[in-house]
Amino acid sequence: MQPTKILLDESEMPRQYYNIAADFPTPAAPPLGPDGKPITPEMLAPVFPMNLIELEMSTQRWIDIPEEVLGIYKMWRPSPLVRAFGLEKVLGTPARIYYKNESLSPAGSHKPNAAVPQAYYNKLAGMTRITTETGAGQWGGALAFSCALLGLECKVYMVRVSFDQKPFRRLMMEAWGAQCVASPSTDTRAGRQMLQDNPDTPGSLGGAISEAIEDAVSDPTGRTRYSLGSVLNHVLLFQTVIGLEAKQQLAKAGEKKVDKVIGCVGGGSNFAGIAFPFLLDKMNGADMEIIPVEPSSCPTMTRAPFGYDHGDLAEMTPLLAMHSLGHKFVPPPIHAGGLRYHGVAPQVSHAINLGLLSPRAVDQLEVYDAGVAFARSEGIIPAPESCHAIAAAIQEAEKAKEEGVERVILFNLSGHGLMDLNGYDRYFRGELMNYPLPEEEMARSIASLGKYPKPAMA
Ligand SMILES: *Cc1c(COP(=O)(O)O)cnc(C)c1O
Repeated sequence: MQPTKILLDESEMPRQYYNIAADFPTPAAPPLGPDGKPITPEMLAPVFPMNLIELEMSTQRWIDIPEEVLGIYKMWRPSPLVRAFGLEKVLGTPARIYYKNESLSPAGSHKPNAAVPQAYYNKLAGMTRITTETGAGQWGGALAFSCALLGLECKVYMVRVSFDQKPFRRLMMEAWGAQCVASPSTDTRAGRQMLQDNPDTPGSLGGAISEAIEDAVSDPTGRTRYSLGSVLNHVLLFQTVIGLEAKQQLAKAGEKKVDKVIGCVGGGSNFAGIAFPFLLDKMNGADMEIIPVEPSSCPTMTRAPFGYDHGDLAEMTPLLAMHSLGHKFVPPPIHAGGLRYHGVAPQVSHAINLGLLSPRAVDQLEVYDAGVAFARSEGIIPAPESCHAIAAAIQEAEKAKEEGVERVILFNLSGHGLMDLNGYDRYFRGELMNYPLPEEEMARSIASLGKYPKPAMA
């Protein structure tokens, strides 16, 4: 009998992260500082610890996973690779569908894969406290969990509207000992200014980033740094444990090749995590299609131009070379909160420009159709973000059925949806809509990109 779960022993866990910067045929365009020149490590030093800045800029192919990080990973890693027999059956597909179950971490998503090493490297560099921002609370929760285990203080600036409407993730952060405040707060100069300008503001991610960075750089002891949950190279690097495990597990399942590798994309970290180890094989000639999936309401990879843009609304970050809808883009209120980012990781953008990826956009209703089909056949209620990957996997399984071919499809289940049932509620009530981004709105939003330098196209 074929196994449903393909498990690895703890002793088989990857001991090194895979750094794709070592293998791109041309390097990705570097981030630029305010002077229009590539940023230097020293410029980032007030914000991030130097050991993480070194990883951010590293071109070494394999990076050792520290023992202490491995020890914490073992709480939920290696994560199972699951053969989706139930989903295959309802689809009647000849494809073999596998998913990597990243919902089993204590925070419920892939995010702790990157939060734990970030906390670890901060501690190693002598830091005692980390600040960050969070929207719906997934990243804040993952960082709070990691800081608890490593004995660091953690302060999370949570966008006010989520703070008020979604208390559960805030309570998770507090259970892990973090301090979580609504942003704008009165704790920073930036926050006080925002409150003075608009006392009833619902807050924004850009505003929360400004507060978290100001808090970190203004600590007179110099022992606080800031942490970002996606987009940056070192965050993508830490997520590659997902794909490295999946490769071993597919081999264990007897699969000689994989045809489709699929992940949803907000900032790009869970996608890169599952895909980059396979992208290495593709760059070495393996025949496979690698599909990053985004919402049609926030079509960064499929429609937005490639250029330099800020990573945040407040223009505090360096200019990043990426596909971007413009850093002032206001996404429609879709329920996959983690996929509403205006840009995408520069390394994912670079791989797109190199012709190595096949980005795809899916509509919100199809996304929930897929999530419900998955919940009713595989049991797990997926995060709305993860449903995007499931929707693309189902499209591929149906294509295999039409063409009458066996194919191996792998996707990443980035998290469970037990904290995000509101979206399901609205779907069941028939209140959800598709929000394909209108052309005029996109044109308006990307107009702000005109003033920035243009990076070379790969
Ligand atoms: C945050 C989040 C995402 C999107 O972030 P990426 O950096 O693109 O991976 C996807 N799925 C879940 C469950 C998340 O919490």
